[in-house]
Amino acid sequence: MTQDLVVVIDHPFAKAILTMLRDKRTDQISFRKGLVRLGRIMGIEMIRYLDIEKVYVETPLGVVAEGVRIPDTDYIVIISILRAAMPMVEGLIKIFPSARQGIVSARRVEEKGMSPGYEFEVEIHYTKIPKIYERDTVIVVDPMFATGSTMVAVADRVIRDSKPKRLFFATVISTPIAVERLRKYLDSKGLISRSKLFTIAIDPEVNEKGYIVPGLGDAGDRAFGHG
Ligand code: URA
Repeated sequence: MTQDLVVVIDHPFAKAILTMLRDKRTDQISFRKGLVRLGRIMGIEMIRYLDIEKVYVETPLGVVAEGVRIPDTDYIVIISILRAAMPMVEGLIKIFPSARQGIVSARRVEEKGMSPGYEFEVEIHYTKIPKIYERDTVIVVDPMFATGSTMVAVADRVIRDSKPKRLFFATVISTPIAVERLRKYLDSKGLISRSKLFTIAIDPEVNEKGYIVPGLGDAGDRAFGHG
């Protein structure tokens, strides 16, 4: 049912990095670098879903070779959900160097607990999003897609004043709960056909605190040495 929305990147290199991230013995630097690498891999995978044009170039041998150009890479907007998105965004920027960038400082209010429907209240403290045009592909980045509460709140903020050509979501680990929440939201806004969720793995569940199981722990704490 969610097949159309979700792209699970099952490249062995991505899986090996994720395994390293899951390992509780992995130190802060390796953890952070792993997220950067996954951002790069994800960016490369996203290009499959952009428009591609056929072009011709003349080689030094004076022969014309057929090739491709990817004009959509000039119209990328990357939105980081602070703070855990930052290392992945560093990787994405290597693939989309001319991307415009926005940030959203959001947190799920864990003190109030998770509702029986696996939902958290989300506080958005600060947003700085560039103007988004109809030609743009917007990539919203948050590595841990646990309940979907934060991602949906941020997506809602992003599309409030804009209708981008595409809406991509970049995550490392997702859960079926989060995927369904996002899918319902996008459906209700008529955005499902222009959206894709990129993830490395779908884990089965969240615990009572809303952490993904088996997951990898607190991605922000581990990447920034707060563990
Ligand atoms: N945020 C994290 O960092 N980890 C989880 O498992 C869920 C949310």
